[in-house]
Amino acid sequence: MTNIKYGIIGGSGFYHPDLLKDVREIQLETPYGEIKPLIGWLDKLEVAFLPRHGQDHSVLPHQVNYRANIWGLHSLGVEKIIATTAVGSFKPELPPGSMMIADQFLDFTKNRVATFYEQGDVQKAHIDITEPYCPALRVFLGKAAAKINLPVQIGGCYVCAEGPRYETAAEIRMFRMLGGTVVGMTGIPEVVLARELGICYANLSTVTNWAAGISVEPLNHTEVVQIMSLNKDKLRRLIGNFLLEVNDELKCGCRR
Ligand SMILES: [Zn+2]
Repeated sequence: MTNIKYGIIGGSGFYHPDLLKDVREIQLETPYGEIKPLIGWLDKLEVAFLPRHGQDHSVLPHQVNYRANIWGLHSLGVEKIIATTAVGSFKPELPPGSMMIADQFLDFTKNRVATFYEQGDVQKAHIDITEPYCPALRVFLGKAAAKINLPVQIGGCYVCAEGPRYETAAEIRMFRMLGGTVVGMTGIPEVVLARELGICYANLSTVTNWAAGISVEPLNHTEVVQIMSLNKDKLRRLIGNFLLEVNDELKCGCRR
């Protein structure tokens, strides 16, 4: 067991832990396969960084080994995860370039193993997920954003689509009617797996495009990467500031 309590999962456009120093890659075996997290330092804090799609973005959303990633971070001792995601927005108040910290999700994934539990775990498997994202991490992230004058919407419903295709205009209308705020492809099952292991998990979404039916242009991944690279510095400053400010004694029920 190491003393690494914080983990960052980097989404689209966030592949390298530039905010950390003395970064080293390690190989970690898990029951679900091998992962290669990058470990580095921010001041006196040792932090793990995992690029969800690989350092060269070769892993598609439906192919990410979510169980290996979360299990691996947990086996390092990680108790708190900040996960970044690139999302499409269908809310006028969240244009491309803006940021949101989710407090709820709607799960529209179809073909992913979304649990660590197997047959025989009946008593344990039905976990409470009324509040899926750690409320305490959300507060700290909000404070860190305010401190550097970064406008971030606190709260909002992350809709997870299966991908890798984008959504239809009708699907976006449905997500809107159901109370969704933004749509992405990777937030689930990560947050669920984290909760199963009692890890505090926060989602930090960056809007990279208008969703289908709202965007006047066809959707493409190049625009996602472009907006992410413009926003990378904001993301780094926010997470860096958060890690320097955050208090270890979070008051939340994630470990219950
Ligand atoms: Zn928590």
